Amino acid sequence: MQKTMQGEIIDVRFIEGQQWVALKNDRLYPGGGGQPPDKASIITSIGTFPIHETLLVEDRPFWKIDAPDPLPLEPVQICMDALWRWEISQQHTAQHILSGLAMQHYGWESTGFTIFDDFSKIELLTEENNAHAWSKLEQAVQVSIMQDLPVIIHEHGSTENLRKLLSCEDAIRVVEIEGVDRCGCGGTHVEKTSHVGGFSILHWERKNKASVRITFAAGIRLGKIAQQYTQWEHQLKKKLTGEVNDRVNDLLSQAQEHLKNEKKWIQQIASHIPPSTSWIVLRDLPSIMPSLRLLANTIQQNGGKVLLISDNGQFVLAGEGSNELFDLLKSHGAKGGGKPMINGTMDPQLADRIDTLIEKL
Ligand SMILES: [Zn+2]
Repeated sequence: MQKTMQGEIIDVRFIEGQQWVALKNDRLYPGGGGQPPDKASIITSIGTFPIHETLLVEDRPFWKIDAPDPLPLEPVQICMDALWRWEISQQHTAQHILSGLAMQHYGWESTGFTIFDDFSKIELLTEENNAHAWSKLEQAVQVSIMQDLPVIIHEHGSTENLRKLLSCEDAIRVVEIEGVDRCGCGGTHVEKTSHVGGFSILHWERKNKASVRITFAAGIRLGKIAQQYTQWEHQLKKKLTGEVNDRVNDLLSQAQEHLKNEKKWIQQIASHIPPSTSWIVLRDLPSIMPSLRLLANTIQQNGGKVLLISDNGQFVLAGEGSNELFDLLKSHGAKGGGKPMINGTMDPQLADRIDTLIEKL
């Protein structure tokens, strides 16, 4: 859904070959305060151009234009993506409610808020790890949504009793949800809390000793997330040919069985290699390091000495005289280390010359 408005291109800049234009229009949100810019198209005399990214140049927002020729300075029509504005305003308003209630109920201050393309993140200052508090906070936000409280914007509000002050001015743009939050803010919001629609805390984790990071989503975005996960589950079911949990469990136990069998045959093969005082060198082996290490270890325990080289240049070295051979390999560019077996990498040319080198030992 598009919302059409008038504007004017008042400046054009090229920065590192990229075109940016300044628009005369107060209603398009250029981004900032953790909120991404509006998405829109501008209709000019030479064509229509999508805009959704801004850059501050001399404290003025410029919109990115993907066109090689400079756009003319002229009045333009701006078609804003109203559904995107609504979705972002829902997230932003939900954040006010969440931050206000976290402060009111627990004294947890909000820091570092960002709205991303598919979810939002906020940090709360608390040392507590109380999972129960998150579900109580989530429910309190949902109750505020249900109460249909007006979201009031005071264009020249007083700085008294603000949860957060953005600048040091005496009067600033204040966003107020009565009884919930009062905060200096330049972003976009829905008009009533009921317009937030729905709210969920998707995840929380400790960021550091002092703060917790909360991932949340609100409104139409919750539906998008549900749709995305439902489609993902259907794709997984198709790929796995069955119920996801059952099939993943099957595959994990199969993998475990393979691993056990692999261990058995490696040990059997190794036990058939007779102990020898000369080096056993095997090249171009499949690059499964744990298996190579197991094979090398078993040969070593049987009294042999072995150099195993994988098809991607990794190697394992084990047995008497390993250190001397490793020193020789190092002098030809191989890298690695370790005890009692030596792991490392070498280039293919060196792998081809190993036999000649070993003869010189
Ligand atoms: Zn706000």
